[in-house]
Amino acid sequence: MADASSTATRSSPAARRLANLITDASSVVALTGAGVSVPSGIPDFRSPGTGLWEKVDPMEVAHIDAFRSDPARFWGFYSDRFETLRDRQPNPAHLALVELERRGHLDAVITQNVDMLHRKAGTRRLIEVHGSIEQAVCLVCGREYGLDDVGARRAADTRGVPHCDCGQPLKPGVVLFGELLPAAALERAQALAESADLLLCVGSSLEVYPVAQLPFMTRASGGKVALVTRSATPADHLCEVKLQGDVVDELEAVLAELG
Ligand code: ZN
Repeated sequence: MADASSTATRSSPAARRLANLITDASSVVALTGAGVSVPSGIPDFRSPGTGLWEKVDPMEVAHIDAFRSDPARFWGFYSDRFETLRDRQPNPAHLALVELERRGHLDAVITQNVDMLHRKAGTRRLIEVHGSIEQAVCLVCGREYGLDDVGARRAADTRGVPHCDCGQPLKPGVVLFGELLPAAALERAQALAESADLLLCVGSSLEVYPVAQLPFMTRASGGKVALVTRSATPADHLCEVKLQGDVVDELEAVLAELG
């Protein structure tokens, strides 16, 4: 069997199998999680010992009730997260997905990540089911503010809380614990999962609602599921192929196979 073993990218039967699945599918949708952003220096907060949430209980500090009851305490914690994320740059895993889209192999990216990195990388059709740090929103009047504006408003406040022009504290445009997911994004994600010939799950342990259900929706609609992730997932038993190496290496190997 001939392969492109002279290239620097490691080839593997699994990468070849995934490339074939992508080629055979008329609709491919990617679903990404924290693992895609790890090479950009953003730790997966669910990984023991590496997490941002190691010293705090996220259910307490990143809960909508915490924001409502004490915005200053909330922003005291959350501003660190903003600063951690705002200057991060996309890595070759993000760029590989952009390249798949550019070559016509990928219809859309659904992501759990709020770090804007798919957008920065250039993904065109992107559904952020947990929102994004790109905006903050006023829960009273609905007005939205961009990241830079939020930073300026935070700096101008003695307690470090960004405020809307109407006087209310702004909430990050990410889904907090205790909040409903954005309905429109969720509907689009579910429709894409149901219509996909292939759902390509990358860097997600598929444990969190709503992404946990998407592979099952794809399968129930007759589509196939492929995984590029190190961790065990609830969808392992129903996938066609699972690539368990480094996310960048694996995606680049698949791209090389596609030629
Ligand atoms: Zn307002």
